[in-house]
Amino acid sequence: METTLSPLRQALQEGDTLKLQRLLEETHPQDLLAVWDDLEGEHRYVVLTLLPKDQAAEVFANLPAEEQAEYLKTLPPWRVRELLEELSLDDLADALQAVEEEDPDLARRLKEALDPETRAEVEELTQYEEDEAGGLMTPEYVAVREGMTVEEVIRFLRRAAPDAETIYYIYVVDEAGRLKGVLSLRDLIVADPKTKVAEIMNPKVVFARTDTDQEEVARLMADYDFTVLPVVDEDGVLVGIVTVDDVLDVLEEEATEDIHRLAAVDVPDLVYSQ
Ligand code: ATP
Ligand code: MG
Repeated sequence: METTLSPLRQALQEGDTLKLQRLLEETHPQDLLAVWDDLEGEHRYVVLTLLPKDQAAEVFANLPAEEQAEYLKTLPPWRVRELLEELSLDDLADALQAVEEEDPDLARRLKEALDPETRAEVEELTQYEEDEAGGLMTPEYVAVREGMTVEEVIRFLRRAAPDAETIYYIYVVDEAGRLKGVLSLRDLIVADPKTKVAEIMNPKVVFARTDTDQEEVARLMADYDFTVLPVVDEDGVLVGIVTVDDVLDVLEEEATEDIHRLAAVDVPDLVYSQ
C-alpha cells in the first residue's frame, strides 16, 4: 500500500496537479482512506478537490462526521455540489446531519441547493433514529409489480440502474407499495422473458422495519447471508434498503463500543493479604 501510494505522496509534496490528477484516477478510494489519517490536512484537501467526483464521494462518505462538515464548509462550491450529487441518499442525509450540528445555517443552505425531490427524501431519512434500520437505509432500491413480465423488468432496470444503490435484488410491491416478494438479478436473467414476476419471485421476504435496531439488522444479514435487506414501515410498505457496507460500519462501531465498555469496567483494587 505504502509503496503504491508513494508516487502520490511525492506528487502531493511537489504540488504537481496534472500528475496528481492522473495518479488519483487510478487510486481506489479505500487505499486513500487507509492512509487518510497520515496525510497532512492540506494534502487531504487537495486530494478531495482533485479526485474524480465519484471517487471523491466515496472517500467523503467514509470520513468522520466532523471532518465531513469541515469539508462541506471549505471545499470549492462546485466540488461541494458534486459531492452532494454523487452521495447516495443515506450518506447524504448523514453528512447533512453532521453539518447541522456544527453549522445549522450552512446545512440549511446546502439543503436549499438540493433538487426538491432529493431534499424531500433527505428530510424523510433524517427523521429516523441513527441506530435503527431507518437511519441506515437508502430509498434507492428497485421495485416492480408482480404482474410485470421479466422482459418488462429488464427494460425498467436499464432505466433505473444508474440511480439505484443496487440492482442485484429487485423487490416486488403491490399497488399500495407493500413488500410482496424479492428476486435476484440472476433469477431474472435466467427466466424466460415472458414469465411473470409473480411466478419467479420469492414471496417469503426477510425484512427489517424502520425501527429495527441496527444490531438486529446486522444479525439478520449475517444469518441469512444477505448483502441487502429491505426495510418496511409500520404498514408493510417498502421504504428502503440497507446494504452490507453500512452494516459493516455498524459492527465496527458496536465492537468498538464493547471494547470501550470492557475497558471502562472498574477493576476493584486488589488487596493482598500477607
Ligand atoms: P448469486 O448467488 O450468484 O449472486 P443468486 O440469484 O443465487 O445469485 P443470491 O444473492 O444468492 O443470488 O440470492 C438467492 C436468493 O435469495 C434469490 O433468489 C433472492 O430472491 C433471495 N433473496 C434475496 N434477498 C432476500 C430477502 N431479503 N428475503 C428473502 N429472500 C431473499
Ligand atoms: Mg446464490
